[in-house]
Amino acid sequence: MKLIFLGPPGAGKGTQAAGVSAHLRVPHISTGDMFRSAIKNATPVGLEAKRYLDAGELVPDSVVIDMVRERLSMADCQNGYLLDGFPRTVEQAVALDDISVPEAVVDIQVPDERLMDRLTGRRICEKCSGTFHISKLSDPTICPVCGGRVYQRNDDQPETIMTRLHAYHAQTEPLIGYYSGQDKLSRPGENRLKVVDGDRRPEDVFRAILSALE
Ligand code: ADP
Ligand code: ZN
Repeated sequence: MKLIFLGPPGAGKGTQAAGVSAHLRVPHISTGDMFRSAIKNATPVGLEAKRYLDAGELVPDSVVIDMVRERLSMADCQNGYLLDGFPRTVEQAVALDDISVPEAVVDIQVPDERLMDRLTGRRICEKCSGTFHISKLSDPTICPVCGGRVYQRNDDQPETIMTRLHAYHAQTEPLIGYYSGQDKLSRPGENRLKVVDGDRRPEDVFRAILSALE
């Protein structure tokens, strides 16, 4: 199964993608994670991408598209994949349909007013990469799953979050029209969009995604 998760920052794409990719046995490909690891390793892509991530802006299409093309050409993606964080612009979506046509696009919807709290409260475990909301931690510095230390992402600061939400509405939201077949660039007569309400408990969102994919 070739799948895309769409939705604003903080919608829970990463959390849900981890569960759904394990369930469907397809690789979970997060472009955000790929950039963060490229930055950590100071690769050429990392050096190019860093200023965009720090600012909360989108990395230029050409950089992202080349990175994803290379990743999707690997052996583990031949029978399917779950893309999380890509595409984020119509140009990226058109390029992806050229590389490998995704069958379904899950749009996880959460109202803007819920996203700020989710993102400013987000903590990530440096050991197991689990994501938690600070309100759910008994010790605000310790991972409840593995005991590792948790940290806050650089771009989870209010001002950067505002920029990311703006980028989402301006550049990514038009993909809803693209995948439902209503954009002038859409593949004719094709509606690949499944809308899921992301404003509820993670296990309920998980179930809703699986039933939308049936
Ligand atoms: P979130 O969905 O919480 O905003 P991600 O981890 O998916 O976070 O992405 C973090 C950052 O990585 C984005 O703000 C952007 O700078 C960059 N990025 C990730 N995916 C893309 C993409 N498809 N196109 C452009 N930039 C991207
Ligand atoms: Zn952990």
